Formats: sequence, C-alpha cells, structure tokens
Amino acid sequence: MVKTLEIFGNYIDGKIDKDGEETTLLSPIDGSEFGKLYLADEEKTKAAIDSAESAFRKWSMTTLNQRQEILSKLLSIVEEKADRYAWLESANTGRTLRQSTFMDVTIAIEHIRYFATTTEFVESRTIEHPEYPGTKGIVQYRPFGVVGGVAPWNVPLLMAVWKIMPALLTGNTVVLKPSHFTPATAFELAKDLSAAGLPPGVLNVVTGEGSVVGTTLSRSEKIKVLSFTGSTATGKRVSREAGGTLKKILMELGGKSPNIVLSDADLDKAAKGVLFGIFLHSGQLCESGSRLLVHDDIKERLLSRIKFYMERMKPGNPLDMETDIGAITTREQRRKIEELYNRGLEEGAKLFFSHNLGTGVPEGGFYFPPTVFSDVSSTMDIAREEIFGPVLTVTDFHSDGEAADIANGSKYGLAAGIWSNSTSRATGLANRIDSGTVWINDYHMISAAAPRGGYKESGIGRELGLDGIMEYTQTRHLFYGSDENALGEIARGLVVSDHD
Ligand code: NAD
Repeated sequence: MVKTLEIFGNYIDGKIDKDGEETTLLSPIDGSEFGKLYLADEEKTKAAIDSAESAFRKWSMTTLNQRQEILSKLLSIVEEKADRYAWLESANTGRTLRQSTFMDVTIAIEHIRYFATTTEFVESRTIEHPEYPGTKGIVQYRPFGVVGGVAPWNVPLLMAVWKIMPALLTGNTVVLKPSHFTPATAFELAKDLSAAGLPPGVLNVVTGEGSVVGTTLSRSEKIKVLSFTGSTATGKRVSREAGGTLKKILMELGGKSPNIVLSDADLDKAAKGVLFGIFLHSGQLCESGSRLLVHDDIKERLLSRIKFYMERMKPGNPLDMETDIGAITTREQRRKIEELYNRGLEEGAKLFFSHNLGTGVPEGGFYFPPTVFSDVSSTMDIAREEIFGPVLTVTDFHSDGEAADIANGSKYGLAAGIWSNSTSRATGLANRIDSGTVWINDYHMISAAAPRGGYKESGIGRELGLDGIMEYTQTRHLFYGSDENALGEIARGLVVSDHD
C-alpha cells in the first residue's frame, strides 16, 4: 500500500462532486489502490461547460492585475504545499519522488510564477492608421470564452498548469479534463485556485473516458478553444470530432525526438545528457530523446560511457529519494512498451544493454528495464514509432548532413538535442532540423518564457511564453474617428451631403 486512499471528485461550479461511476486508481509503484475516482459522464461535462460559460462575462471584465493577484496567491499556496504535490504526483504516476520534487513541482512553481508576474503580456496596444490621419486605433487582446483543456497521463501537474494559467490570465474560463489515470494533482490545483479566490465556474475540472468527456468537449459549440495534449492518433480524432464547430484547436502531440552526438562532443557530458534525455520518467515524456544519433567515429566510446552510467542507475522504490528508475504509469502502457521491445528484437536490432531490475523494485508495480538497442536502422519500427518508455535506439551517421536527414526522417518534429563543442556547428545543424525545440548541450529544459510545440505531426500552435499566451486571445480593433478625418470631408464612395 502506497499510503492512505485519496478520493477524487469532479470539480464543477466551485463544488466537489462525489457522484457518478466509481473507479479505483492503482498506484504503479506497487499496484496497490491509491485512490477512488468518480468518473464524469456527458451530463456532468455539459454542466461544467455551462458553468464556465456563465462565469465568463464577469471574469472577462476583471483586470489583468486582479487575475494575476489570484495567480500569485495560488503560487504561495503551491509553494507551501510542494511536498504534498510531489508525493501525489509520484504516487499517481510512478515517477521518482526526486523527479517530482526537483523537476515537476519545482518547474510548476516557476511556471505559475511566470504567469502570475509576467509583464510581457499586455491587454492592448495603440496603433496609427496610415490611411486615416488623426484617427486613433487600439488593438485589444480579448479572451475567446470557454477553453477546453484535454491532458494526457504522463505529466499531470505541469499539463494542468500549462492549460489553466494562460487561459485564466487572458480572461477565459476553463473546463479541464485530466487523464482519468492521473487526475490527482489537477484536482489539487483546482481546490487551491479556489482557496486563492478564483470565483466558482471560472475553472471546472472533470475527468473520465476520452470517448465520453473528451468527445463532449470537442463537439461542444460552447467551447471556443480546445487545447489538446496527447497522442497524434487521438489528436487527429479530436480534430475530426471538433470539425464543424469552428473552435480554435491547439494540439501538442507525440514525438520521436533525436538526440544527436557530433564527433567533437564532450563524450562524458553527452553520455549523461543522452541518459537524461531518454530515461527521465522512464521515457514517458513527449519530448524524450528516444533516438540517439551518433557520429560513427565516436560511437563505441560513447556507448561504453552510456553503459557505465546505466549500470549505476539505481532501481528501488520511486518514493525513496535515492531511486533513479521510476515505474511505468499504467499496466497498459507497460504492455505496449514490451510489445515494441519484442518487435525490435524481431527486426534484428542488437540488444546493447538492458538494466536488470531484479528484485530491486517494489513487487506488484509496473516497471520496465532501461534498454538500449544499437545497430538500429531508421526504417525499423522501433526507430519510427513512439515507444513512450525507457527504450533508446542507436543509429550512426557519418556527416552532419546525414544526421539532419535521419533526424528529419520522422513524421514527428517535437524536439531534438545536439551535443558538440562548437556552437556554430551545432547551430548550423539545429537550423536544418524540423522541430519546435532544439537543445544544444542540454535536454528537457522547458522554460515558461519559451514557446514549445511541434512541427509536422507533433502539433499545431504553441504553449508557454508570450506566443503561448497569445494563442488564448483574439483581437478587437477599436477605431476612434477624428475631425481631421471627418465623414463627408473625403470621398468615400457614398456622398452624404449637408446640403439639400
Ligand atoms: P492519449 O492520446 O491516449 O490521451 C490524451 C487525452 O485525450 C486523455 O485525457 C484521453 O482521455 C483523451 N482522449 C482520448 N480519446 C479522446 C477523444 N476521442 N476525444 C477527446 N479526448 C480524448 O494520450 P496519452 O496516452 O494519455 O498520453 C501519451 C501521449 O501524449 C504521447 O503520444 C505523448 O507524446 C503525448 N504528449 C505530448 C505532449 C506535448 O506537449 N507534445 C506532452 C505530453 C504527452
């Protein structure tokens, strides 16, 4: 047993609703019951949408200052409760407590701080109209109305922050659907936003099956922006289901990101970066660096450093701060990883190293050994499909141009890493890579101030930074006429004469 059972109800119109079909959440750490959850149905989802729609007019008339004050209060609450958030995130997802503490919760706090304090976003700007001297124009950045957010199971707290904060900051109201596998921290955030003074209805959180709750959000005419994060296959389904409703759709989808080590890289640093790129949260991150592309001159030396560090990765209970290897969040996901692992063996990839977890991890949990396949050709399924687990494929190249071609030979374009001692060489290669983010001599560094999102089948639109905030706004143009440009004084196609 991980710890006492938590009960999660939907959060609708400012009230926690513990009603509906009850389901049990299993902690992937040891397979024990971690919580009970009440699943929302179509009716409850519609009630949440209606609540957000009713709250919109008043909320949209609040000032940016008033909204940021509430986000600042939330910031203090989450900072105070950081340990609780980290525990909930680990118990529910199986990521190590060290990762929850030092990455997810720490980053969530920094990102809430960004939205609570940013001065980058301004609600309007003044313009001149070159055609109409003396007139004045104001361009306002206005909210759309109700934003629907749909999140995957892998990064629940950050996803909730990224979907809720920019939408609220810009004066929209929100219905968030966290994954019904990992709803814990999103519900906690909703309660804390209420404690911070967010009026009822401005944020609603409902969870349940994607085919029920998600579909209701996609099809609703009342949802004006749908911000979806999940797999590319589901993203395409969502865009079909939303088709005809004229809502704006933002999509953060899957990836198969290359982590490229050039011949002049610092091999020790690169080896650690490659491991961090793929094994953080056991590879269950959309931007995980799951394809290692390495220059053939240094391949053997790099692989031996990688093995050296992998052997030192510690299995254990993810709630122990010393543990390096976390669990796979769902039993189903573990099965999918195993299936692709077996496909890799069938395809003839060489099993270079697989960490023997032995009895080092808690019994009953969902774990998969960190694995490296070498001699992987880019036509193999394991180099093309998103495995979403701790499996690294290794492909070698002979020139930077070839590295770019292999990197781009994927339907995805979410992120990439480049390791090199030459900034100009790395930048030259980065400029040839079709992806929304390229890290040079680092990986997984997500900044609240920087837009993130995908090229190609990895997405449409951006999250975070000013670019991400602007996605939640539509412009209104106010035109102020002037005497200098008065009606009747210039030819306008229709003569309105003062004379009989
Ligand atoms: P998924 O596509 O199965 O589900 C994502 C969400 O969509 C869940 O909340 C699910 O319930 C919901 N859903 C399912 N069917 C739906 C439907 N018909 N209509 C509306 N919603 C529906 O993805 P997952 O397995 O939860 O998460 C893993 C995937 O998410 C991976 O592909 C990963 O790369 C991707 N991801 C992308 C990013 C990014 O920022 N690009 C971040 C995290 C995860």
